[in-house]
Amino acid sequence: MIPYGKQHIDQDDINAITDVLNSDFLTQGPQVPLFEQALCNYTQAQHAVAVNSATSALHIACSALELNKGDYLWTSPITFSASANCGIYCGAKIDFVDIDPVTYNICPIALANKLKQAKKEKALPKIVVVVHLSGQSCDMEAIHTLSEQYGFHIIEDAAHAIGGKYQQKPIGCCNYSDITIFSFHPVKIITTAEGGAALTNKADLAEKLTLLRSHCITRDSKQMHREPDGPWYYEQIGLGYNYRMTEIQAALGISQLRHIDKWVEQRHTLAEAYNRQLKDLALQLPKQTEGNYSSFHLYIIRLKLEVLKKNKKTIFNELQQAGIGVNLHYIPVYKHPFYQELGFDYAYCKEAEKYYVEAMSLPLFPSLTVEQQSYIVTTLKEIIK
Ligand SMILES: *Cc1c(COP(=O)(O)O)cnc(C)c1O
Repeated sequence: MIPYGKQHIDQDDINAITDVLNSDFLTQGPQVPLFEQALCNYTQAQHAVAVNSATSALHIACSALELNKGDYLWTSPITFSASANCGIYCGAKIDFVDIDPVTYNICPIALANKLKQAKKEKALPKIVVVVHLSGQSCDMEAIHTLSEQYGFHIIEDAAHAIGGKYQQKPIGCCNYSDITIFSFHPVKIITTAEGGAALTNKADLAEKLTLLRSHCITRDSKQMHREPDGPWYYEQIGLGYNYRMTEIQAALGISQLRHIDKWVEQRHTLAEAYNRQLKDLALQLPKQTEGNYSSFHLYIIRLKLEVLKKNKKTIFNELQQAGIGVNLHYIPVYKHPFYQELGFDYAYCKEAEKYYVEAMSLPLFPSLTVEQQSYIVTTLKEIIK
């Protein structure tokens, strides 16, 4: 089976890990701060806090922005459910803003309309989590303008998007957001096995994120409530978690980060080859909008079902039977039984519903060969002809 995504590990990565195993620190040593510095250098963000997953990063991002019981968090329905679950962890109420039919990202017009309505009902969101689906940035300028008008915080869920650019700036620079999060799960652009990070330009948020990652325990006397009793003294000043990244993961992250630009270029080359070879089929191909350089985490196609003879289930099955690991990103989050129990209509967002019926992701990763790609294209043509 050709998977839809896959990590690339070389001897340098393996050496970086064995060096850590032979060192004094497996956790809480020098590699994590070095990885954080490397992430800052790469994204131009002021602060980076590495954690054990993007899900953890989303959770502490919401906590650092003081999302509380009864507050609202809004996000896109076309995302991995972690983008919404983070709000539930904090006791917040979740709502979904429909997607744009071309980019599949949160639609700024739908957001503006929903905000206008929410203002009347005094139910404005405290946080909007925007998701850069497949690695293409949302319309951050428009969303940022709305955030100033309506007073909400912005978290960028850039789990797909490290290596991408928006308005010539690296995604992660936080020019239009409070916090950006990355995932380093093996299917993503670079990996630390499990892992994630939260980036911000705000020193107070960086301090909170760092505390929340590690039990809200501090040995810094400036953060303490009382004078230290002695040199052993530390204080727990809030309720935090153990969301720390290990030294092994951070060393792998540093090693992986060195390849990122090359890998994203390879993803572009492969995506352009798909675009050329699929352009005459009854498909909607991914469209890069003005000012965007996608990381191309995913190559998402939409089937023009009105002109095709088969439905998506049949096409999907036939591709899988041919050894092609197609996938769907994503089932609209509100359809999951957990969210249904919160009362969402099963077909809550119109554009997300259409997307769900038509979309699938074709395999895309830097080491996908030309032969594998032609096999995918030929097979797809055969199946939908
Ligand atoms: C992968 C992913 C996450 C969660 O990442 P983990 O590191 O696995 O916790 C969150 N949001 C989106 C959009 C993702 O694709």
